[in-house]
Amino acid sequence: MMLCKKCQGKLEVARSCRRVRMRCQECSHEFHIHEVADILDEETEEILSRYTVLIYD
Ligand SMILES: [Zn+2]
Repeated sequence: MMLCKKCQGKLEVARSCRRVRMRCQECSHEFHIHEVADILDEETEEILSRYTVLIYD
């Protein structure tokens, strides 16, 4: 499980159009993938691997 760097809420993968972000369920802050790359867990990597055609900006 990945936790928000601001409030320790749970992060979920948020996909919109051609972007993928990690969104906090508590404070709704959206993180770019590269911002949370250091705390990526296996479950999340698995989900992101399905979006390889997308751009992680
Ligand atoms: Zn948060």
